[in-house]
Amino acid sequence: MAEGRFDGRVAVVTGGAAGFGKAVARRLLADGAEVVLVDRDAEALAATAAELTGVRPVRAVRADVSQEADVAGYVAEALDAHGRIDAFFNNAGIEGRMAPITELSIDDFDRVVAVNLRGVFLGLRDVLRVMKAQGSGAIVNTASMAGIRGSATFSPYVASKHGVIGLTRCAALEGAPFGIRVNTIAPGHIDTRMARDLTVQVDPDDPQGAYERAAARVPLGRYGTAEEVANLAAWLLSDEASYVSGATHLIDGALNA
Ligand code: NAD
Repeated sequence: MAEGRFDGRVAVVTGGAAGFGKAVARRLLADGAEVVLVDRDAEALAATAAELTGVRPVRAVRADVSQEADVAGYVAEALDAHGRIDAFFNNAGIEGRMAPITELSIDDFDRVVAVNLRGVFLGLRDVLRVMKAQGSGAIVNTASMAGIRGSATFSPYVASKHGVIGLTRCAALEGAPFGIRVNTIAPGHIDTRMARDLTVQVDPDDPQGAYERAAARVPLGRYGTAEEVANLAAWLLSDEASYVSGATHLIDGALNA
């Protein structure tokens, strides 16, 4: 049964103030976990922590996942508070600017890679050290369907998400002898702030039209929800997925089928 499957477990969730992170935190809390919520947006983080504390008390840590000292800081806070990390949702990411490669600056590229790829690497590095010492743990890294296919106008994001899938495979191999599982989720179109912001980049004059056209291309006929992503991520972080590691899990309404 789903209820209580995280009883006594400690979970760290990055990008926890909104979207997938918030939905996963809510799911893990409802299933009994102690949750440490990490985000760089202090205001949204405080609001979400207050909202989720209605389910169970949450520890909120402001940190930018692209910064080495911030990552060391959220891992240290989780250990100070709870002494271990059993589940890690390594999820914070940004979309960056949509444009052809020929029109991108170094900064356009570096900004996205710093958060989406370096941030995932730093989180993996510090949390794997903790989990290796424990001899247990489960990690889910958030990639995207952009991690398995290209796009003519989204190259920094696509490159960063392909990188997340590569890092996940390496971490799964490294972690397996220590009883640690590492997986990637690869969502398609999911209705969050990020997806809505992308529709503005796709069609600034008619973002709602861009949203509806994208939804119509999905075989299931709609965007997914953050809660649907949370169901997959929480399952991967739970013991129910005990033989699942090193894999990329599309959740896209059959868009890439
Ligand atoms: P969102 O914008 O709703 O939430 C992202 C959260 O991450 C925000 O609270 C933001 O403040 C935080 N964040 C951003 N940069 C950060 C940083 N440097 N340090 C700490 N926190 C930071 O977006 P979302 O849709 O929930 O996206 C979550 C993840 O899912 C991202 O990695 C994104 O690339 C990926 N994704 C989203 C979709 C989609 O359709 N929404 C599809 C595929 C993949």
